[in-house]
Amino acid sequence: MDTALDDTARGPAAEAAGPAVPPPAPAQQQVSGTPEVPGARAGEAGPAAGRPASLSPSRAADFMRCPLLYRFRVIDRLPEKPSPAATRGTVVHSVLERLFDVPAAERTPDRARALLPGEWEKLLAARPELAELFTGEDGIHEPERLAGWLAEAERLVERWFSLEDPTRLEPAERELFVETTLDSGLVLRGIVDRVDVAPTGEVRIVDYKTGKAPAPRYRDEALFQMTFYALVIRRLRGVVPRRLQLVYLGSGDVLTYDPTEAELQAVERKLRALWEAIALATETGDWRPRPTKLCGWCDHQALCPEFGGTPPPYPLPVLPVPRVPEAGAGPAGS
Ligand code: SF4
Repeated sequence: MDTALDDTARGPAAEAAGPAVPPPAPAQQQVSGTPEVPGARAGEAGPAAGRPASLSPSRAADFMRCPLLYRFRVIDRLPEKPSPAATRGTVVHSVLERLFDVPAAERTPDRARALLPGEWEKLLAARPELAELFTGEDGIHEPERLAGWLAEAERLVERWFSLEDPTRLEPAERELFVETTLDSGLVLRGIVDRVDVAPTGEVRIVDYKTGKAPAPRYRDEALFQMTFYALVIRRLRGVVPRRLQLVYLGSGDVLTYDPTEAELQAVERKLRALWEAIALATETGDWRPRPTKLCGWCDHQALCPEFGGTPPPYPLPVLPVPRVPEAGAGPAGS
């Protein structure tokens, strides 16, 4: 299970909607899933195709991975199929969040496991289309598939107890929607899984991943999301978070990083450059595909030129590309 795909929580279509959209409901906001755009069919733009209005870690990562994928998700807002892994990520995140509702001594593996069916039912009620994950081609519900999926979710929840002890934690925030506007006007937004604040005032940002820890060469990519959140929290609270912590439930690893003010300034510069590149692509309509092995997980291969497809008509006005004067041609009459 790819970690980037697994834990993209708040779906691209939801994030693309811009600042007017309120934070997603808890059952859907964390991790996973790429909620479909109501009324859109595969291969068609959603009903509210539009300009990028803000940047989240997931969508920033999309643009860095493949600009055309970013366009499909943020501008065309194409629907994507729900996946069992992403949906499981959503449910597991909900369980870990809800567990802190009960007194510390009651935050046991049994209690966490008992929350799973209810959190799944809540998610299903909010997104009935997820039932198709456990429905055969004949349209008949397959309870054994659902049971296997829930059993894997149980294993992920149980593993968390070997990595952290919730009886000793009192999070300051859970599923915290954050938004800030940089001096450049760029709006950064996202949802932080957990914020812990020590009596000394030191802040720790924690993110759960239901996938496996990345190989060392992909570590920076994984930490990008966390430094993004660290930058937002620094602006909102006026302190550099002491620690960033990624908890990988798929492999039982914890990755930590202690950022510095200078590093957060570098992140801000990087995001500004990224936003300028996105703005240029938005104006020119020039969204290049960038194929990688992750294309295997892309829902939009059928529309991607790299796979013989044709993207839908670009839904935004395009600035005329400046013409390069031919060599030797001077101004008329000269
Ligand atoms: S298939 Fe690959 S190259 Fe094409 S849009 Fe998807 S991620 Fe980009």
